[in-house]
Amino acid sequence: MTWQEQLIRRNPALFVRSFRGVAFAPGYPRCAPGWQHVVTRLVERVAAAANDGSVYFTHMVCENGVLRTHWSSRSEIPQRSALKIEEAIGLAEARSASACIDCGAEGRLFATDFVLAPLCKVHQRGTLVPIVAGGDVFLRRGVLRERPVLVQSRYDWDSDAFLDLPTSVDPKAKAPNGRSCMSRRESAKKGQKMGIRRSERLSQVGQFVSVKCGGLVVPLRHPLVRDALVQAALDPAVRSIEYLPTIPTTPTTWGVDAIAIESDDGRYYLDIVEARPRRSIAQKLIVAQALLDLGLRPLVRTETEVLREPRCSNARTVFEYAGRPIDLGLRMQILGALTHDGAMPLGELLSRLQSYRDPVTAVMSLACHDLIELDLVSTPLGPHTMMRLRK
Ligand SMILES: [Zn+2]
Repeated sequence: MTWQEQLIRRNPALFVRSFRGVAFAPGYPRCAPGWQHVVTRLVERVAAAANDGSVYFTHMVCENGVLRTHWSSRSEIPQRSALKIEEAIGLAEARSASACIDCGAEGRLFATDFVLAPLCKVHQRGTLVPIVAGGDVFLRRGVLRERPVLVQSRYDWDSDAFLDLPTSVDPKAKAPNGRSCMSRRESAKKGQKMGIRRSERLSQVGQFVSVKCGGLVVPLRHPLVRDALVQAALDPAVRSIEYLPTIPTTPTTWGVDAIAIESDDGRYYLDIVEARPRRSIAQKLIVAQALLDLGLRPLVRTETEVLREPRCSNARTVFEYAGRPIDLGLRMQILGALTHDGAMPLGELLSRLQSYRDPVTAVMSLACHDLIELDLVSTPLGPHTMMRLRK
């Protein structure tokens, strides 16, 4: 009996399905013996995360030197369980990327007879694949303030765990590491050097911060991007804005420099035609595919759309108040009035407020804080601008 067969017999709920009355395992682990421990640990973790028997593997294959796993479930499972399963799969992918396919020891990626596979010092053969900065940095799903976000993590071989990285855009703080078989200092030095160079090459026209960015800074490469982000920050349909400096793909990591926007109807990356970075066709295809793999579709916008009035000027005007302190008394009065009476025109709300402080500043700042919604699309900002409490 193969180790795969034994594993499937021990965990039938996770593997066995029926095809015309005959049992088979769509997620049969198709990989070399060196990954037995990687697969076994993955199965144990998934079994612990999904103990109601509804989850099963649909695909578990060695693909270009990494273990790719897909799963499904017979019924809906809690988000917390789904995240644990995703984490277990992420850990198995990360470990398989440097686990020798012959013996499971820590190794590096080689190309042998045109096939990519990690091999240890004892079993190494073929051509060594060069190390690229950030090769051990992975993106995985996490939760921040009850919202799903992408977390950048580094895989730690010794503890078989992810170490969350600060998602800061400061290249020094990022310090991407090389593959783990180099000495830590050596790899850190090399990674840092390449990482910083890559970031410095990209020119920056400013920075963008909003409460929707989860406290992180988005570097701006083009003035149109600022307008698009200001509008997204004030758009009630947009839930979060996130900067993705790199995306790990097999076998290298790509600097994508993308901005992910999560809205009520899906997850997108911002693609402003006039602000597209200069890339070769091959690079464009790889970056687009990597973003698609993350579930991000292009949100294509042209200069004309971004600068369309009255929205563009309205958004710019309101966003000038971002971060201004809000008088507590005014805040209570504004939120109270909107809670009680629902949506109303800005003029009506302002006439009700009683304070010696500027009420307009408070209203605009609350909008920038994502606490109230202003209709910036229909009319130029004025007494007739409709406003309501953020849903
Ligand atoms: Zn080996």
